[in-house]
Amino acid sequence: MPVIQIMSELLSNRIAAGEVVQRPASVVKELIENSLDANATDIVIQIEDGGRELIRVVDNGSGMDRDDLLLAFEQHATSKLFDMEDLTAIKTLGFRGEALASIASVSRIDARTCNNDMGEGFRLLINGGKVDRLEGAAMKRGTSIAVRNLFFNTPARKKFLKSANAEYRHIVEIVRRFALARPNIRFHLSANEKDVYILPPEDLSSRLNRIFSKRLTENCITVHEEEPPLTLKGFMGTRELVRRKSGEQYLYVNGRLVTDRMMNSAVYAAYGGHLDKGEFPFFVLYLSLPPTEVDVNVHPAKTEVKFRSEWQIYQFIRRSCEVAMKEWTGDSSGISQS
Ligand code: ADP
Ligand code: MG
Repeated sequence: MPVIQIMSELLSNRIAAGEVVQRPASVVKELIENSLDANATDIVIQIEDGGRELIRVVDNGSGMDRDDLLLAFEQHATSKLFDMEDLTAIKTLGFRGEALASIASVSRIDARTCNNDMGEGFRLLINGGKVDRLEGAAMKRGTSIAVRNLFFNTPARKKFLKSANAEYRHIVEIVRRFALARPNIRFHLSANEKDVYILPPEDLSSRLNRIFSKRLTENCITVHEEEPPLTLKGFMGTRELVRRKSGEQYLYVNGRLVTDRMMNSAVYAAYGGHLDKGEFPFFVLYLSLPPTEVDVNVHPAKTEVKFRSEWQIYQFIRRSCEVAMKEWTGDSSGISQS
């Protein structure tokens, strides 16, 4: 006879954590998404030991009140999705209500938040998913979430963490991807108390210049096509930037970083004969479309999407990139420098 039991929330959170939190960089990703969803304009990311010791994300967003601070770490607790209808038109980066619960179940959390100008905030300590303490804390409006000792209670997971340096590189890459998605937001990343990025609010060209080398930005062509309700904007690298390894392709759908084969192949198709087999171009492209046209609820990490009309999107991306390619006569036009 099978003995079926409903698992405790602590256990189910820890299992869900396996999908949401693969490594320190996934924690950084979820925390930055939350800051952006809270309309922060200034996001500070501090890490120690490649995020294995500490990940702290501090924002100047809306903050939370006492009850929401407690609720935020419960599974399926979200302020972004209320009914089935919302699920068909997601406008926020988060919506599953499981990131904080998952992260908290496999780490030690120190979360502070304030949602008013009187400086009356709260601080919540959680240890392996169990609430330790909740107290008042004086602070500016915004939220600060510190995640310590990731995977301290899941040794099997912890064993799979790479060296501090490798985890550090994943985190830098995540921050870079958000920085490209939101050039109007100030990002400050420091590792072991040394500054890695200090990025002021700026336009996309200057953000690109700040993050990449001058050689890179000088060898990009501009993409900008509109066929309502679709828009594609961004930059494509010329042949100068072609590489033998992948990893410098940045694709965004409604401001969300995605990995998508169809989109990739549309861009590759536009490069046509300018790319040889095994070569990878550089590009940063932003696709905007009505949220009802794309399903973002494909995977817990939310980096995969499903389009309602794949073929139409493919054609649009390919056409838009081809238009940009036509203006590129072989030598690069370069993007505006600042
Ligand atoms: P989701 O983002 O899918 O809603 P999370 O577990 O990431 O789920 O967050 C739960 C809730 O906590 C959010 O819906 C939001 O209301 C609140 N929250 C989390 N981080 C922040 C933040 N930095 N500022 C304000 N509210 C936050
Ligand atoms: Mg979230």
